Amino acid sequence: MIDVIIAGGGPTGVMLASELRLHGVGVLVLERDAEPTKQVRSLGLFVRSIEVMDQRGLLERFLANGKQYQLGGHFAAIDKPRPERLDSAHAYTLGIPQPVTERLLTEHAIEVGAEIRRGCELTGLSQDSGGVSAELADGTQLRARYLVGCDGGRSTVRRLLDIGFPGEPARKEALLGEMEMTMPLKEAAAVVAEVRKTEKWFGLGPSGEGLYRVVVPAEKVTEDRSVPPTLEEVKQRLRVFAGTDFGVHSPRWLSRFGDATRLAERYRAGRVLLAGDAAHVHPPIGGQGLNLGLQDAFNLGWKLAAEVAGWAPGGLLDSYFSERHPVAADALDTIRAQSELMSAEPGAQAVRRLLSQLMDFQDVNRYLIEKTTAIGIRYDFGEGPDLLGRRLRDITLTRGRLYDLMHGGRGLLLDRTGQLSVAGWADRVDLVADVSAGLDAPAVLLRPDGYVAWVGADQQDLLGHLPRWFGAPVS
Ligand SMILES: Cc1cc2nc3c(=O)[nH]c(=O)nc-3n(C[C@H](O)[C@H](O)[C@H](O)COP(=O)(O)OP(=O)(O)OC[C@H]3O[C@@H](n4cnc5c(N)ncnc54)[C@H](O)[C@@H]3O)c2cc1C
Repeated sequence: MIDVIIAGGGPTGVMLASELRLHGVGVLVLERDAEPTKQVRSLGLFVRSIEVMDQRGLLERFLANGKQYQLGGHFAAIDKPRPERLDSAHAYTLGIPQPVTERLLTEHAIEVGAEIRRGCELTGLSQDSGGVSAELADGTQLRARYLVGCDGGRSTVRRLLDIGFPGEPARKEALLGEMEMTMPLKEAAAVVAEVRKTEKWFGLGPSGEGLYRVVVPAEKVTEDRSVPPTLEEVKQRLRVFAGTDFGVHSPRWLSRFGDATRLAERYRAGRVLLAGDAAHVHPPIGGQGLNLGLQDAFNLGWKLAAEVAGWAPGGLLDSYFSERHPVAADALDTIRAQSELMSAEPGAQAVRRLLSQLMDFQDVNRYLIEKTTAIGIRYDFGEGPDLLGRRLRDITLTRGRLYDLMHGGRGLLLDRTGQLSVAGWADRVDLVADVSAGLDAPAVLLRPDGYVAWVGADQQDLLGHLPRWFGAPVS
């Protein structure tokens, strides 16, 4: 029997596959599409996702394939400089097209031993106390201990589980694509700037190799967004908004997207879980979706691996939902707010001007950036110092960088007292005794996803907390 089947080999699915493999879990990724997509949806990674890549030793390959941009100007496209004192070693945006992100993550998943089968569509599933049975479009039957639906916004897994997906339906749709253009860029940019004063869902800009990324509102919301628009439809809509079609031609790909905003009621039904767009959808304002999905996978991976290995303490797997659902709910609200702020209505424009003034206060600017880059997340681990439930920034230790010590995805006790021990959990938790650690605490226990699970100095207190995250000690 397979340990875990992942339905969907998008960014969330392959990230999860790698996380599970770090712990020796057998993983099969089923991907419906026979070939990787050329469609560029996401344009980049934000701070927390960049940190996650660093924590798994993937940052160099991402940096080599992307471009670093100054943070700022993300919130509702209100142009402000990066706030001072951002608490990260990676306080920048990494511009990297989604197909490249997917390729890098897929390569890594394969390197660490995940099996990825393309051209395999999951069409049915059932579960019992011993496992999950999955059915593929070609009639193949597979059996696994767990199954995770990472199969995107129109998730088959979510539908088969009958999990509610409340929220707002799409009221607006845009056409998107990459194509060539005959109009000189300078002339086109002036037209685009004029249109964008009243229509923020309009855009046209260079995307490399002589191509231009075009976004233009569609005439109406279509029934089936999997049917791409024609070039003629794109040109006609460009003429409606800009009075010209810019001489666009030779599209490499065309697609549609909408502004539906929905959040799954549950992320788990027995042995089946949901992650990424399968659990939450929203318009691409602020570039959140892929980042959210990667961090879902990072949260879920070690917990599901613990469950498969048999040492997961009670409630650990359910903490995936109790931690990640509020994060997604907050992200959806922040996106709804940005949507309103981007409306051309006079009231919305007045609120936008007011917020722009408020963002000149460093604390407001920092608060919003910490929210959209996910470094402000604090999971609710109960009462405790402010550090508890937050991710720790990278710090320099005597043995090197903290994030370099996290590549294996194990727990880590960072001890400045030199008095603490993880005996009994040494197979799951590493001990790093380092008096030099640039840390505002005597010792911290980090989960495999880098969040602070305990802060203190007392061995008895530590012994009381280790089982909550790492199960029973081995005697
Ligand atoms: C225009 C646009 C711009 C965006 N920009 C950004 C951005 O800048 N930053 C950002 O973070 N996000 C952005 N997003 C969102 C981002 O693209 C998604 O959030 C991200 O792709 C979600 O990843 P996922 O792996 O969860 O789902 P998906 O990428 O949808 O992957 C799901 C995979 O599952 C496969 N699949 C589906 N059904 C089945 C099945 N039954 N069996 C097997 N396989 C199946 C699909 O073929 C697909 O490969 C943007 C989205 C759009 C539309």
